[in-house]
Amino acid sequence: MTTAIESTYTFTAEVKAKNKQQNRDGWAMTVDWKLPGSKFDLTLYGQHWDTLRDIVIDDQGNGPTRTFTIQQGNIKADKAGQYTTDYFWDMVGIEIIGDGDNNPGTSSPVQAPPKPRPEPPTSPSQDGGAASEPPPNPAALGACHNHAVEFIIAGILPLPKHRELDSWIRELRDRFYREINQAPLAPLHYCYKDGQERKQSSRTGNWGHLLPKEADGDEDSYCIEGRERWRVFDASQ
Ligand SMILES: [Zn+2]
Repeated sequence: MTTAIESTYTFTAEVKAKNKQQNRDGWAMTVDWKLPGSKFDLTLYGQHWDTLRDIVIDDQGNGPTRTFTIQQGNIKADKAGQYTTDYFWDMVGIEIIGDGDNNPGTSSPVQAPPKPRPEPPTSPSQDGGAASEPPPNPAALGACHNHAVEFIIAGILPLPKHRELDSWIRELRDRFYREINQAPLAPLHYCYKDGQERKQSSRTGNWGHLLPKEADGDEDSYCIEGRERWRVFDASQ
């Protein structure tokens, strides 16, 4: 049952999953309910585990049913705000069904974290702070998701044993996003193989960096741009 009151929804739904957020300490909870216009079950995020202390998923994967109240939060990056899914939604209430408002004993009011409002132009986050990175770019995330799936299918980054496919896709997606897509640009002439910056030789114009010696008494050797496979001993190269 859904009641729309401006930018707040109250609905009753079963909890389908409760997990730790992939790369943070908070929780992520998926409920059997979709925002109007969305094809996907709603996932709510938060920092305070105490909020979910009564939410237990049993061995069969069944979670309890609760009445949720959510409130429209910050708009996501690159979204126009036309759709409900363009926004983050903050959980502002979670109650056991049938509990009246006058029964504080068994309802679990959310310790609503203060909204991240006018924190300087850093990051509006979904669950009230703790965000140390800017909001994700949805288009870039989508691309990283696709690449993750392609690498798995191609067998380049196959699903490890004892891993669930969805968590593996998420891990790869997040790593591609953070470590590649959003990684700062390396300086020109950077050596990716050795992870070192190169300097230009004033004599030859070549870009190179010193390689570690393989044995005592070895002459200095260099990794020269365009000739990464060779160890170049003549420093004038
Ligand atoms: Zn190198």
